[in-house]
Amino acid sequence: MLCADKAKGNEISRMDLRNLVEYFRKNEYDVRTIHKEVDPKFELAAVARQLDGGPAVLFEKLKGSSIPVIVGLYSNRKRVSEIFGADLFRLPFVFEEALSNRMKPILVKKSPSREICFDKEIDLMKTLPILWHTPKDAGPYITAGIVIAKDPETDRRNVSIHRLQVIERDKLAICIAKNMGRHLETFLSKAEARKRPLEVTISIGVEPSVFFGGCVTNPLISVGEDELEVAGGIKGEPIELVQGEKVKVEAISGSEIILEGEILPDVRVKEGPFLDFANYYNPPENYPVVRIRFISHRKKPIYQAILGGTFEHTMPGSLLRELSVFKAVRAAAPSVKAVFLTPGGCCLFNVVISIKKEIEGQQRNAILAALSSHLYIKHAVIVDEDIDIYNPHEVEWAIATRFQGNKDLIVIPETVGHKFDPSSFEGRTTRVGVDATMPLIDRDQFERGVFLKVNVEDYFD
Ligand code: MN
Repeated sequence: MLCADKAKGNEISRMDLRNLVEYFRKNEYDVRTIHKEVDPKFELAAVARQLDGGPAVLFEKLKGSSIPVIVGLYSNRKRVSEIFGADLFRLPFVFEEALSNRMKPILVKKSPSREICFDKEIDLMKTLPILWHTPKDAGPYITAGIVIAKDPETDRRNVSIHRLQVIERDKLAICIAKNMGRHLETFLSKAEARKRPLEVTISIGVEPSVFFGGCVTNPLISVGEDELEVAGGIKGEPIELVQGEKVKVEAISGSEIILEGEILPDVRVKEGPFLDFANYYNPPENYPVVRIRFISHRKKPIYQAILGGTFEHTMPGSLLRELSVFKAVRAAAPSVKAVFLTPGGCCLFNVVISIKKEIEGQQRNAILAALSSHLYIKHAVIVDEDIDIYNPHEVEWAIATRFQGNKDLIVIPETVGHKFDPSSFEGRTTRVGVDATMPLIDRDQFERGVFLKVNVEDYFD
């Protein structure tokens, strides 16, 4: 059964974006199509936001553009599980397997992404239906661009996703979070030390393996390791690349749209505000600038966008983070069963851990490991394996009936956290562990009700 699912999963995960959209369009719970004309400025985001976590939305008719827009394709875990042929909550382990079965990408000569090319009078807003999400955002943003660059020293590749604010006809401000260990930041400082621009390609509307491979970052992968090899591992086939027309960097062949350009050395502009992952506006900060020199796209391209603060923004990366949190907890407490970065915690701040406790106290070691496994994680709740960690009511029930605040609470103040959490102070945050496991002795008091196993449907006509 698992093998059959895996095979089907691979079939879907090997589709390019347009075929993936077509595949899921068969079911209105997965993709809904809007034929009515929609304005990419504010209106489209307002519609898509209301459907966040449910079906993806294909907007066929855009005001001022003939290119349709897809939003929300990766907004729910069930759809992503279907793509990769994984059991719903074993998804993170798909990426663990991919990390140990990497495949080198290959270069192809002919790419459909080169069907239509623009190399003169580049005008991003004229060419693409770039969305402006909310009136308080600083402007229109490209949000699903896969940025590829090469280390100026070693020529090794890096793949990452960054939000890109349109600031001029042919210029984008690129948000590369500072001092967060982003590999692109390292590349840019090396280029700037040489007073050189850093060439990049930006692929929009890529196949799912590349999108999720692009989400792999520290500590699962370090600078110098190619995310596209992991993407190949996810796909089970090498990723196909096309050589840059204007830059010595490859782009994803088969992607809907490709931009080529360079990050200008020692140039910074005000970027933001932008409604970001924690559902608050990031205040403006100074970030580098990409000058776009070349655009190509497929015939009848589809433009993909991700709205800030939606499940599609936070969930894909959280699958990878769950894997790294799980590994850290497993090293401290081998009987850990699963970890879940909850959607209410922006898929970042709150983790629920399931453990089959074998030694009293082990659950507290697991809490410490989880809390220190990632910069973002603030709150860790640990429960016994009989609790469904994906059901918030069950987790709350465990806290209500298996937790005592005077002895089961761990509070570690003033640790380094994430500054995008507005309750943190100068980037410092308090980490909290909640031990909602039953004690190993005296378990009789915690006996759960057991009913006969019946099939309810048998009782209705
Ligand atoms: Mn990297």
